[in-house]
Amino acid sequence: MKPVLLITGGSLGIGAACARIAATQGYDIALNYRSSATEAEAIAADCRAAGSKVVLCQGDVSDPAAIADIYAKIDAEFGRLNAVINNAGVVDQTARLTDIDHARLRRMFDINVIGAMLVAKEAVIRMQAQGTGGVIVNMSSAAARLGSGNQYLDYAASKAAIDCFTKGLSDEVAAQNIRVMAVRPGLIETEIHAKGGEPGRADRLAHMVPMKRKGTAEEVARATVWLLSDDASYVTGSTLDVTGGR
Ligand code: NAP
Repeated sequence: MKPVLLITGGSLGIGAACARIAATQGYDIALNYRSSATEAEAIAADCRAAGSKVVLCQGDVSDPAAIADIYAKIDAEFGRLNAVINNAGVVDQTARLTDIDHARLRRMFDINVIGAMLVAKEAVIRMQAQGTGGVIVNMSSAAARLGSGNQYLDYAASKAAIDCFTKGLSDEVAAQNIRVMAVRPGLIETEIHAKGGEPGRADRLAHMVPMKRKGTAEEVARATVWLLSDDASYVTGSTLDVTGGR
């Protein structure tokens, strides 16, 4: 039986690249997305062509009822869960703290932090009940180290929370052979920058990267899927920077 992998935010960017690579490495996939149904269908088709069973799980991870629905579908369609890439995440427009309101902070933390924690919680419940161990990779960001002042410090703070959560959860579940890690992408070319109001952001800031270039979603995905694998069997509690040195 193939291991079952849940990817949140699997319709675009890094999550989609993770799905394509995981499919070639022998995973069946529960592919979550929120609104990009056409794109999610296309990724699912690619993964099926590579031999994976794929179940699409539409749902907004900031909604606990939607998370319950996602897991109900996984339970019904697969009856097991072995790995999670906790990838769904958002940025917002460039702003200083004095221009950031309560609604924006709620949205950022509901999706990036509380959503990720609840997704991980449901995964741990299943992995513990199965007694099989498991792997959870949380998608953090280099912003967690950099702070992102004058850009989006709320986003950076949400990702710093993910780093801390990763360490804490890894300690809680390590004895059951559930490994928990975070990946911190740097400047990666995806649609997230346009959603933050600056489509050319990765190109504009590439000169600040020691490797002098932006990264690709596939480069992040390869590192992420490696962490899922048995080749990383003694890795837990770690955060892996995939940043070109930034
Ligand atoms: P992206 O291209 O904008 O894709 C984001 C994905 O997350 C989409 O599949 C989107 O689904 C999904 N999503 C957003 N909000 C969701 C929600 N509430 N519930 C469920 N799914 C949701 O972004 P990306 O660049 O691939 O980013 C993926 C992760 O990497 C994020 O956590 C991001 O913070 C992190 N990251 C990215 C970069 C970068 O430079 N790109 C750098 C550091 C960290 P729909 O489109 O279907 O709504």
